[in-house]
Amino acid sequence: MSQVWLIGRPVAHSLSPAMHNAAFTKLGLPHRYEAKETADDQLAATLDRMRREGDVLGANVTIPHKETVLRLLDEVDDGARRIGAVNTIVSRGARLIGYNTDKHGFEKALETQPRRAPWRDGFPFDGDRILILGAGGAARACALSLLEHGNNVDIANRDPARADALARSIEVEGRHPEVVAWPRGSEPGDAVVNATPLGLNGEEALEDVQLPKWVIDLVPTAAETPLVKRAKATDNVTVVDGLSMLLYQAARSFELWTGVPAPIETMRAALPRPV
Ligand code: NDP
Repeated sequence: MSQVWLIGRPVAHSLSPAMHNAAFTKLGLPHRYEAKETADDQLAATLDRMRREGDVLGANVTIPHKETVLRLLDEVDDGARRIGAVNTIVSRGARLIGYNTDKHGFEKALETQPRRAPWRDGFPFDGDRILILGAGGAARACALSLLEHGNNVDIANRDPARADALARSIEVEGRHPEVVAWPRGSEPGDAVVNATPLGLNGEEALEDVQLPKWVIDLVPTAAETPLVKRAKATDNVTVVDGLSMLLYQAARSFELWTGVPAPIETMRAALPRPV
């Protein structure tokens, strides 16, 4: 039996083990996906254990390690390096190789989301203004994708220095995201992406802000977040739930570890709500 780990903190309530283990069972693969709660000062040692144990196929990396893990790996694929964050590790013998499947998951979730008001098909944004809350690993993947699709990206983060670092390092043909203040009482353009954990404990990430036409909440929770609930109750707002991105990034990671197509409908059925 081989193992796949989820490295992050907190990970106890993650929905990824159910999805991946259902997929391994479906395909008759003798693998097991396990969450490993990992504090900052345990990250390097956890990676060394992966190198030593020999039966670890790879891992997912989640909050708060996606950026720091980059310098601890033996190799990082070009896409992940451009984003500046790794969410998937593949073991090749004792070498650990980093990838990023969040960007793919984000794009696929947006492309497949049924629209609640007339809007372009496929990737929904082109020449639009989009606000991202957060400046961590997930925000980096979303910012790069949105810039590549020709949009203007605003970044608001609790720690403005981290937003500045993101804005300096994410670039498409000379265009960068702009750093803005955390919105209160403002209108956040055509879309908002919540790339913070706000919502996990019942908080509303966009309190006092009028909702734009698209609300994309990355927080993947068993119960809908307050932001998703408010957006679903608002006319003509298209809502992308974090479970959708979770599904598509997971499918791409699964394929990197196993080399076989992910059984996407089995993985979807393992989620606690339909997406
Ligand atoms: P990181 O640790 O890389 O970044 C976390 C970000 O959230 C930082 O910008 C941090 O701000 C901000 N933040 C944390 N706590 C608070 C708070 N109490 N108030 C305001 N801002 C806060 O994590 P990730 O980027 O990997 O993940 C961010 C979120 O996106 C998580 O909820 C994660 O579950 C979700 N996600 C979902 C995915 C999906 O497939 N659905 C995929 C990837 C991520 P600061 O810099 O100030 O600390």
